[in-house]
Amino acid sequence: MRILIVEDDLMLGDGLQRGLKLMGHAVDWFRTGADADRAVAAMHYDAVVLDLGLPDDDGVSLLTRWRQKGCQTPVVVLTARDAVQCRIGGLDAGADDYLIKPVELDELAARLRAVTRRSAGMPEPVWRHGPLEYQPAARLALWHGKSVDLTSRESMLLELLLSHPSRVLTREFLRDKLYDWDKGSESNTLEVHIHHLRRKIHPGIVRTLRGAGYTLGPLDALESVPADTSSDSAPDSSTDSTTSPPTGDDA
Ligand code: CA
Repeated sequence: MRILIVEDDLMLGDGLQRGLKLMGHAVDWFRTGADADRAVAAMHYDAVVLDLGLPDDDGVSLLTRWRQKGCQTPVVVLTARDAVQCRIGGLDAGADDYLIKPVELDELAARLRAVTRRSAGMPEPVWRHGPLEYQPAARLALWHGKSVDLTSRESMLLELLLSHPSRVLTREFLRDKLYDWDKGSESNTLEVHIHHLRRKIHPGIVRTLRGAGYTLGPLDALESVPADTSSDSAPDSSTDSTTSPPTGDDA
């Protein structure tokens, strides 16, 4: 998922960004309320990790303004302010969760998953699509009950497809979710990840809609052809080029 960190402490912010990136998330990190305001206005985030003591603003005021403007992005407050009144104030201002520093990265990641599941209306711990079963909390994919070895980016991509089952996801949307602002050049790797999902799970698991984007493959396509786990070749460039928009959107 795409996460915004608002944290003025350099060491903590850097540690959180690195840690969440290693888990496969796209993470933007800003240190002031003004930058966070601009980021929230410009980009759709799946979740925000919000410090309360910022150099130019107070996190509670920031959050209150976002909620007043209709922003529904799940927000996890991460602060040293542990007084009960502060917790109540943060939650009343619209925080979805409130964590006291220091926090274990694994716990923060789990809380982020929990608040995004709630906001998406998907409390189900297991998602299914035909013979595919996916457990987001464990990042575990099973195909006909057998576990599939996916990288964190491939898991993220699969999660995005499964969590928008009836939507066509554009390349731009997927890249926004998978990569950070400063990694815009990784344009071809999306196609590589799609190729790997097809190879590792089933050729029909992802459907390309020419010029539009990608969607989960229809269920009947998953029954017709057996999963191919034999080849480990690079993406078939001829296949990918025929399914790309005529002008491309990589420029
Ligand atoms: Ca602070």
